[in-house]
Amino acid sequence: MLNVKKYYNTDLKKIDEFGLKNIGFDSLTISDILEFFSNQELNSLNEAVNSHPKWMFNLILSSVFEISDLQYLFNSYNINSVKDLIFIIYSDYFESKFGQIKQKNYLRYLEFVFFDKFPLSIRNNNSILDIDPNFISKTRLNGSFHNHSLYSDGNNSIKELVEEYRKVGKSYLGISDHSKSHFLSGGLSELDIEHQHAEINALNTFYDNFKLFKGIECEILSDGNLDYETHILTKFDYVIVSVHTNLYQSKNDATRRLLKAIENPYTTILGHPTGRCYGRSPGLDVDIYKIIDSCVANNVIIEINGDKDRLDLDVAFINYAEKKGALLSLEADAHSLSGLNSLKYAIFIAEKANLNPCQCLNTFSYEKIRKTFSEK
Ligand SMILES: [Zn+2]
Ligand SMILES: [Zn+2]
Repeated sequence: MLNVKKYYNTDLKKIDEFGLKNIGFDSLTISDILEFFSNQELNSLNEAVNSHPKWMFNLILSSVFEISDLQYLFNSYNINSVKDLIFIIYSDYFESKFGQIKQKNYLRYLEFVFFDKFPLSIRNNNSILDIDPNFISKTRLNGSFHNHSLYSDGNNSIKELVEEYRKVGKSYLGISDHSKSHFLSGGLSELDIEHQHAEINALNTFYDNFKLFKGIECEILSDGNLDYETHILTKFDYVIVSVHTNLYQSKNDATRRLLKAIENPYTTILGHPTGRCYGRSPGLDVDIYKIIDSCVANNVIIEINGDKDRLDLDVAFINYAEKKGALLSLEADAHSLSGLNSLKYAIFIAEKANLNPCQCLNTFSYEKIRKTFSEK
């Protein structure tokens, strides 16, 4: 069974335009596929997927390839494997016909998705289950900031998340649901934000020894702007900025995009810095050193994302950030109570990088966090 959630952002029109026949899905109609998306299940599609190489199906749904390019390649060459396709895309002919940017992006995607260019040793490491989620190098972690609730695409209420954190002795929690343009994940409208903040205010009054922070995971648009106006951004205690779409820009454009978001005076934390996602996207091709330098210059905290599908940032870059004096934040990017445990992966990465606890936001007291956020 295919994981339909993976294909949320797919433009279904593309599939229609492509002409399923060219890659062997001639038995399917667009309505079959629409049915599959709405019911998450369709026997005829599953049969078709099973009787054809899955990688072809993934290519069409990837939203990376221009459908006309795929159509041209499949019509012009005898392509029987991803390796065949990579071989053709590597050629000078491809470069002169389609240009360097496409060549680079297509190759990055194919190599990342099909040849496991991902820290699998961390993803598959069972010993991470034994890590104490409360500590990094024996220093207490008091809370975390990248967490989703029912307000966007999380599975639990804010109160349930708080209770889970109180059970393990933490003292604060930041809620950062998706912003408005991430509408497929329930991005927050202005009214949603009002309701959420009223609920957080009430919970903050209710608990004596536990505090909530009002955050948001704000979408970095393709040009580097954020998707809320200033008068909305001022309502949050902190703003995590991150990318989820249009991940195949040129390195210059992608770097400029992140730099613009980092330079936004309301940005507090850079979330999953490259935007990579296991089996799906290699993320942005950016000059990561420039990005880190800019975070330091603009007082922006850099996230180490512990979601097993992201594990973003790599140890070498954390070492560079630490040397430059960056402040880093360990995050679960939780979408459920059990998702809070992904903090362990962020801790594991931080331990591997030998991160100094003084440069780790989660070791700060509630008062120090307040001060850090207000000094932005
Ligand atoms: Zn995200
Ligand atoms: Zn998130």
